[in-house]
Amino acid sequence: MESAGAIRAVGREGNAHFLAGGTNLIDLMKMGVVTPEKLVDINHLPLKRIEKTATGLRIGALCSNSEVADHPLVLREYPLLSLALNAGASPQLRNMATVGGNMMQRTRCPYFFDTAMPCNKRVPGSGCGALEGYNRMHAIFGASDKCIAVNPSDMNVALTALEATVHLQGPRGERRLPFAEFHRLPGDTPEKDNMLEKDELITAVTLPAARFPEHVHYLKIRDRTSYAFALVSVAAALQMDGGNIREARLVMGGVAHKPWRLTAAESFLKGKSANEENFRQAAQMAMQGAKAYAYNQFKLTLAPNAVVQALKTASGITA
Ligand code: SF4
Repeated sequence: MESAGAIRAVGREGNAHFLAGGTNLIDLMKMGVVTPEKLVDINHLPLKRIEKTATGLRIGALCSNSEVADHPLVLREYPLLSLALNAGASPQLRNMATVGGNMMQRTRCPYFFDTAMPCNKRVPGSGCGALEGYNRMHAIFGASDKCIAVNPSDMNVALTALEATVHLQGPRGERRLPFAEFHRLPGDTPEKDNMLEKDELITAVTLPAARFPEHVHYLKIRDRTSYAFALVSVAAALQMDGGNIREARLVMGGVAHKPWRLTAAESFLKGKSANEENFRQAAQMAMQGAKAYAYNQFKLTLAPNAVVQALKTASGITA
């Protein structure tokens, strides 16, 4: 069965899912959080190549996270992606999990996983257990009164910083989306994590020509040093000209329903000297509009400090 056959098979059923690595979907099924009537196994589809193109790099959606992280072209030209992938999950999970599946992974909000609790993302209209509950892991940007969950992926943070493009195939043909527009904020419909239509398949992610082969860092702050989701993470990528910043990309993870790009801070840093004072100002800009809940107030301090630290490491300044 080629991609079109898999797409038709999912489209025919009211509640069918594509199955790739299964590292998230199978867990959700075991807990009764997701209850598909049919799974369409796509592991045999020819979507496993990593190849250089005229404009950059194309990564098939079924490449495993470890294949991408260890690929020589990724290590040489897009090291930020490699750092972010290796910060996620465990080696066993990275061997199974695919790029497309990583993009689709669901939030780790504990109320989403507990079918005895209200959760608008799992059961629309049932309420949000986290809003007045234990919301330590939750959002400080872009949340709504319907959902304050965060996107758990490290890879998504790096792909946003690298300005990737998502390639989709559906019954009406192919389309592309800038990676930053693939995931969405919760608004009134938190059950919808992203812009994918039900019978659309992620076929690839493409990266533009490498612009940040050095001066990058992915800082992930979590409760233990491996196999834990980010409380806050920062992807920082810089183009340096001596001690000056020519170009900057900054994206936070663990703080919103989608990777949170810090465009005002990026613009501020352009042309500035790489020093702690400028990094602190950029971090202050990054926090505009932040709002914490009862148990995640600490993120208001942790996030700007993480931005400063990521920029220091990426730029190589030690002072
Ligand atoms: Fe559900 Fe979102 Fe509320 Fe968590 S934050 S309980 S995922 S609606």
